[in-house]
Formats: sequence, structure tokens, C-alpha cells
Amino acid sequence: MKKAIDVIKSLFLIELLKGMSVTGRHMFKKKITVQYPDERTPMSFRFRGLHALRRYANGEERCIACKLCEAVCPALAITIDSDLREDGSRRTTRYDIDLTKCIYCGFCEEACPVDAIVETRVIDYHGENNGDLYYTKEMLLANGDLMEESIARDKKLDAPYR
Ligand code: SF4
Ligand code: SF4
Repeated sequence: MKKAIDVIKSLFLIELLKGMSVTGRHMFKKKITVQYPDERTPMSFRFRGLHALRRYANGEERCIACKLCEAVCPALAITIDSDLREDGSRRTTRYDIDLTKCIYCGFCEEACPVDAIVETRVIDYHGENNGDLYYTKEMLLANGDLMEESIARDKKLDAPYR
């Protein structure tokens, strides 16, 4: 009996018509495909993307080389060296993040007592050569300088939840 039903189904192209009806039903529906990068989906102010090191308004680096971010990083992606300045303050002489190791957990940002290391909403970055995703202190500070306005805005939005 089942065989007979299968023969009738294939004779009248029932499965094909079923498939076509699904296509037809969706053809005129609102499209949900996002045409990235021209279109973007909404993004949380807590999104964890490309890292940046921030400065204070007077240009001074926020980072005090406490190394909490380095200690908390589960991927061992952060490497910090530090030294004392002439004025006795401690600052990093090296602050590297290997983004090929990073799992974007946000622990470094959470641990930082001075909001120095942050993860921005930037997702449009890539590497083409070995080492391209190894971010040095200079590169991270440049990110911070470039995006300070949006970082500060996101921090303000996040403040009531902390
Ligand atoms: S986001 Fe997580 S894995 Fe990446 S550097 Fe920060 S602590 Fe490490
Ligand atoms: S970025 Fe923050 S947590 Fe990391 S060493 Fe600097 S001050 Fe400490």
C-alpha cells in the first residue's frame, strides 16, 4: 500500500509541489537577511569586540600596571611589563594582547580598577599575515584614542548595572 502511495506521489510531483509552496510562501515575506556591512544588527553597549587602552582627558594613560587583567585572563593572551617612572608612578613598558588567543570573555575589562582596558564594539578587523592580530600597547592606545567618545558613551550606559 505504501509503495502505491509513493508511486502516486511521485507521479503527481507532490513532494516538488510541497517544496514550491514553501518557496512561494516565503518569496513575498519581509527579508531577514542583513546585508553586512551596509546593514548592521543592533549591538549591545556591552558587546565585547576589539580591545582598546584608554587615557584620561589630560592624555595620561589610565593603566597603572597592576596586572590584574593579565592575571585574570583565562587564555593567557595578555603580556605586561612595567617600570617606575621618574615621578614614582608605575606604568607599563609593554602591554600586548594576542587576539588569536583571546576568547573575548571580558574578564580583563571587568578586573580593571581604572577602566583602562576595554572591549569596544568594533568587529571589523582581521589579520592576513602571521602576527597581524598581535596588538601592542601602541596599537591598543591608538584604538582608545580613536574610539574614546563611543567608549565613554557605552561606559555611561553600563554604569547603572554595576
Ligand atoms: S577578553 Fe578574556 S581572553 Fe581576551 S584578553 Fe581579556 S581576559 Fe583575556
Ligand atoms: S589595564 Fe587595568 S587591570 Fe590591566 S594592568 Fe592596567 S590598570 Fe591593571
